[in-house]
Amino acid sequence: MKTPPGFVGRKNIPRLCVRIRRLRVKSRPPVPSDSSAWVFVPISAALNLENAALVSGTMPEMVFKRSVRARSYRLTLRKDGVAAVTIPARGSEREAREFVAQHQDWLARARARQARRPRPAVSWTIGTSVLWRGEMTEIRAAAVGEAPKVCLASDVFPVRALEGDLRAVLEAQFARRAKIELPARTWELAAEKGADVKQVTVRNQRSRWGSCSVGGTISLNWRLVQAPESVRDYIICHELAHLRQMNHSDRFWAQVEEYFPAWREAERWLKHEGSLLGL
Ligand SMILES: [Zn+2]
Repeated sequence: MKTPPGFVGRKNIPRLCVRIRRLRVKSRPPVPSDSSAWVFVPISAALNLENAALVSGTMPEMVFKRSVRARSYRLTLRKDGVAAVTIPARGSEREAREFVAQHQDWLARARARQARRPRPAVSWTIGTSVLWRGEMTEIRAAAVGEAPKVCLASDVFPVRALEGDLRAVLEAQFARRAKIELPARTWELAAEKGADVKQVTVRNQRSRWGSCSVGGTISLNWRLVQAPESVRDYIICHELAHLRQMNHSDRFWAQVEEYFPAWREAERWLKHEGSLLGL
């Protein structure tokens, strides 16, 4: 295993990646002045307001979840606009509410940011526009009968039926295309830049667009096949640059600049339009 130049050999950080931005704040539980201030609730008895709300059919604005593993209170704004509050094992709902009260401003800003973000359709049917190769593209019926097909611009995909939600079947087809196209493009760019790639994998990552291991494996998120070509190439170049600089130092960004001068535009696209990739 070759150690890339500039890598300082910290074994605890084996991979570097482009993370998918999440709206999240967290804080350790406050240390109570009096130990009786702690409220211990058995995990099994923990409130599950989320399920209660689902039963009554109303969408809550906030849900509380108790986590045995969480070490701090965490506030996350979910894609559906519900604020999710994680209560650590030793925390209480009362403290969780205080934590939320302290972060009201953050929550308001996160909600405003979310409202400005373009949102993809939840279910896909004929006529729905979805992100495909960087453009919002309408799903059209291409063939009816025994072997139904739909098309997105000039790409044709077989489907089980033209009726109903096409999302799962189309996303599976996108992932299949990605497994062919993304490695091909990575090898091409690696040859062009003289980068020493050992392996390319395409995965269904929820939190990263791409990552690079010290051993020279580049992993890419299949959803990049839906993104503009420039964004896809930027992510690949970002990971190739990590083969030379296993960090996010100035020298790393200088390497990215050399490989892909328009990286700032691509970062901007990921920030503002990346939510269209359905994560
Ligand atoms: Zn990186």
